[in-house]
Amino acid sequence: MILALVEHDEGMPDEASLEGVAMARELATAEGDSLEAVAVGDEADELTDILGDHGVEAVHRVTHNRLERYAPDAWAEGIVQLADERGATTITGPGTDRGRDVLARVGAKLDAPLATDCLGVDVAADGAYELRRNRWGGSLIEHARLEGEHKLLTAAEHEFPAEPAPSPTEPTVSAFEPDLEDDDLEVRVDRVETGDEEGIPLGEARVVVGGGRGVGSAADYDQLEELAELLGGTVGASRAAVNEGWRPHDDQVGQTGAKISPDIYIACGISGAVQHMVGCKGAETLLAINTDPEAAIIQKADWAVIGDLHEVVPALNDALREAD
Ligand code: FAD
Repeated sequence: MILALVEHDEGMPDEASLEGVAMARELATAEGDSLEAVAVGDEADELTDILGDHGVEAVHRVTHNRLERYAPDAWAEGIVQLADERGATTITGPGTDRGRDVLARVGAKLDAPLATDCLGVDVAADGAYELRRNRWGGSLIEHARLEGEHKLLTAAEHEFPAEPAPSPTEPTVSAFEPDLEDDDLEVRVDRVETGDEEGIPLGEARVVVGGGRGVGSAADYDQLEELAELLGGTVGASRAAVNEGWRPHDDQVGQTGAKISPDIYIACGISGAVQHMVGCKGAETLLAINTDPEAAIIQKADWAVIGDLHEVVPALNDALREAD
């Protein structure tokens, strides 16, 4: 049986989790195996319906009165106990920090191999998995073989389309209460502070206007905000801009930030360092605005405007307002 870890917000799975389910479904189809899902928390109705659309046959809710907040060892322990009870041989997770955090701990408990950031997986004749996965943030692609009694994988973000299964199912739902020790709760979320949740999340935006060091100041992002709003998108930033304190880390695109896959990414005053490009390589179209015709991003862009963003972006905003 293949068990997919699903993260959710009050019963609503995130896109990365559905991508993880899509990878698990491919494996279940290739192996002729069943596909089940595990989620921590009580909210199940909506989650079950959605997971049924994505081909999951059974949904296991891990519940425990000490699991109100995220506790990675306790999640891992719950998954290990459930996998043992259900006879799961493959456990998949979403390509999120939490997915990697939990599955690494599951791997340590089961002494099983974990392959993160998978781009594609084939099942070999001997049952091993032959897979491709991102290394160094996607600058290299590794071909690897995964063997063992248990195999653990996370999906690379935006690689497995989070689309419904060809044949939906009506999953069974069951609650599973693991035995947890104090040690399992040593690492846990103690308190949650919510940030500014306005606007479209970077990972889901169809238009992203990115600003780098070339923007020059926090105040100058107003022009980029306006452009993003006119196009129905959101603003991202390079690490240099985040380090300057002009934008919050949540806005960072790149190896150590968000991976985006918009229809168009408009990169303003960004040089195109490899660590930035691995975050935006999923963009359908890349438009760069830069004063330097030799900047690395110009070579990688589909379209480029060589010019000062402080003139180009307001001109774009004026043109868009006029066209409206
Ligand atoms: P710069 O490289 O300084 O480029 C500024 C650009 O703006 C230049 O091309 C310049 O020509 C142009 N410019 C200047 N003025 C104007 C103007 N008025 N109009 C138009 N163009 C103008 N970086 C990330 O972005 N994301 C990451 O996740 C990330 N992770 C990293 C992880 C590691 C381990 C390391 C070592 C680095 C990481 N970096 C990351 C940093 C990365 O290497 C670069 O330093 C960073 O991306 C540079 O940001 P930038 O392009 O905004 O700045």
